[in-house]
Amino acid sequence: MKHETVELLISDLRIGIDEKDESAALKAAARKRLQKAGIHTAPLTCRLYKRSIDARRRGGEGIVFVCQAMAELPALNLPSAQRLKDEKITPVDREPMVITRGKTPLRHAPVVVGMGPAGLFAALLLAEQGCSPILLERGDPVAERAARVEAFLRGGDLDPESNVQFGAGGAGTFSDGKLVTRIHDPLCRYVLERFREFGAPEEILWRAKPHIGTDLLREVVSNMADKITALGGTIRYRCRLDDIRCEAGEVVAVTNCGDIRTSALILAPGHSARDT
Ligand SMILES: Cc1cc2nc3c(=O)[nH]c(=O)nc-3n(C[C@H](O)[C@H](O)[C@H](O)COP(=O)(O)OP(=O)(O)OC[C@H]3O[C@@H](n4cnc5c(N)ncnc54)[C@H](O)[C@@H]3O)c2cc1C
Repeated sequence: MKHETVELLISDLRIGIDEKDESAALKAAARKRLQKAGIHTAPLTCRLYKRSIDARRRGGEGIVFVCQAMAELPALNLPSAQRLKDEKITPVDREPMVITRGKTPLRHAPVVVGMGPAGLFAALLLAEQGCSPILLERGDPVAERAARVEAFLRGGDLDPESNVQFGAGGAGTFSDGKLVTRIHDPLCRYVLERFREFGAPEEILWRAKPHIGTDLLREVVSNMADKITALGGTIRYRCRLDDIRCEAGEVVAVTNCGDIRTSALILAPGHSARDT
């Protein structure tokens, strides 16, 4: 086994809302559930992972928090998957994203088109892997974009390149920043943890229906942009991809600020860029 410890996600732990020490109550409930499943070691750590509220007062239970806890245990104490029968205890894959690095150096920097969530995360990962990406965004940086949107809402002209849909942060930047999805992919947690790292509140990690809020969302986007450039990436605002040419086995991104030769082109222009 690669890790000496394993993490288990323990679901449906019910804790009274008046509990004075919520963290101790969570630990006790988690331990009880583990014991029931035949695991008698106390968790090394046990932290709140998700929390919602159940106000249905079923069976005289009262209003309760329904929690998920992440418990860390010595690997030796974990029964095999076949023997772990409790479906509310799930071993967690701690490396949900495996990045395989190529062996041939890229001749030209990768180009990412669009600075919405898809493009931002693509550029961030490329920058973190030392690939110095070039991120193209047809609209403005967050602050200028916000000023343009406010001017438009006061009756000013629509800027077709920088508006509620287009500009740093992408289409949802002027939304409430709801972080709810029905997909159950381990990468969802990765996204939340990265948002937290770039300035979102801690509670997005455990709230059942987390949201960042418009003002903070803009700050998070700016912080991610700063990180990309600090790691050697380049962001070109007001730079729109207009065409793609293939020349001698290479790709040329044709933009309104000149041609850019690239070894890898990632398109993340969202669903509003009909022209693209
Ligand atoms: C009003 C509104 C509210 C929303 N609220 C939420 C919410 O609360 N929670 C939630 O999860 N989702 C929300 N969404 C949906 C969410 O915004 C999208 O799912 C998400 O933005 C898609 O991300 P994306 O990176 O694929 O594309 P986008 O966010 O659309 O980003 C694409 C980016 O590419 C740029 N671009 C486009 N064409 C080019 C080009 N040719 N050259 C250079 N740059 C280009 C655009 O300017 C844009 O910045 C909301 C959407 C809207 C419109």
